[in-house]
Amino acid sequence: MELEKPEESTYLNCIRCGLCLAVCPTYREYLKETASPRGRVALTRKGLEGKLDLSPNLIEEMYGCFACMACNDICPVGIQPANLALSMRYVQEQRQPKKWKEVIFKGLLSKAGRLELAMLPLRLYEKLGIRRLVYFLRLNRLLPDRIRDLEAMLPRIPQRPLRRVLPEITEAHGETRYRIGFFLGCAQSLLFAEQSAATLRVLARNGCTVITPKDIECCGMPARGYGRMDLVLSQARQNIAVFERFNVDVIVADCATCGSTLKEYDSLFARDPEWADRAAAFRSKVRDVSEFLAGIPLKKPTGRIEARVTYHDPCHLRRAQKVWKEPRKLLSLIDGLEFVEMPEADWCCGSAGSQLITHYDTSRKVLDRKLDNIEETEADIIASGCPGCRMQLKTGLQRRGTPARVVHPVTLLDEAYGGGDGRQND
Ligand code: SF4
Ligand code: SF4
Repeated sequence: MELEKPEESTYLNCIRCGLCLAVCPTYREYLKETASPRGRVALTRKGLEGKLDLSPNLIEEMYGCFACMACNDICPVGIQPANLALSMRYVQEQRQPKKWKEVIFKGLLSKAGRLELAMLPLRLYEKLGIRRLVYFLRLNRLLPDRIRDLEAMLPRIPQRPLRRVLPEITEAHGETRYRIGFFLGCAQSLLFAEQSAATLRVLARNGCTVITPKDIECCGMPARGYGRMDLVLSQARQNIAVFERFNVDVIVADCATCGSTLKEYDSLFARDPEWADRAAAFRSKVRDVSEFLAGIPLKKPTGRIEARVTYHDPCHLRRAQKVWKEPRKLLSLIDGLEFVEMPEADWCCGSAGSQLITHYDTSRKVLDRKLDNIEETEADIIASGCPGCRMQLKTGLQRRGTPARVVHPVTLLDEAYGGGDGRQND
């Protein structure tokens, strides 16, 4: 993760081979060099060498990148166009800081309590039955496409954030084999509480005593995506310090985006003498939940799920964490599930954080290809380890009238173990 202006070595060696063009979702939609990884590398170079102004158009191409990291993986000489695009957002933010980012990232996202408060209108929308009424009267059809999709993306909103409901310690069933720290991310706590509750049940059933600290902050990914590295650093320091208080063997995340960001904390502080060792110790413990579960002896689930399932690889899991066999392994433990691999399972679904709002048209085009691939499998269930991907896929499938469930793979494992109180819906 770049903290400063990119160094020459990060872009000078591009041999313009074009391999990265074949894997880039934004290039595939527009066939425009400036919307490609190679183009973004060239724009970065010319911008930093002073041959091009860092104009709004140039910066827009950096924000147009979906940060899927497919280009990073394929580049034969080790250029990382996705990281350069993020670094250029940082460079721009240094030159011309934007007031609204101060409000959103420092005001809202810097404290979990403020974000919870900001969710109040949505909770009331659900709790007072307004949402049911909107659907009953089909008022959602009157909304503009973008707003209707955003509304449809929302899962059933928990009335209380999971962080407020959970005890700090969830005891293992039987003897404690592992002492786990659980990083309960903001989206999981506020929107996908049932799914994270399932994660805790599965961990506890498999001999884990789980500590869920309440005073963590956002992992830092939203601020990073908008060039606010100052906030990423302060959030990372807080999270490292919080987990240092507990003597845990492993720190587990059940959100691909949170996990990938936590795994970058060591590189964030590599040149900081005060924090380098602490960040490295923290990072060495971080695991995605499927990575952790696939690496320990698991109790065999006794329940069956009679369904056809496919798996979508979130970029933040497959590309950033190289975790892709593990969720498939977990699914294979469940009797009755028939697994079908979808074509291009590792291609971005177009969610890409806030790009599904800010770059709505591109996001929909990228999603459409993913949905075609999903529908080819005729799966009843689509599993995926990222809340953003699940929201995006669920909305797309609803729009097409495809009646498939979209869930975290650990939710299915939990159901096969007997679950909490029945079937859960993300
Ligand atoms: S970024 Fe890498 S893959 Fe893309 S054109 Fe340059 S050298 Fe080739
Ligand atoms: S990260 Fe993805 S969207 Fe961005 S340039 Fe690379 S391949 Fe294209």
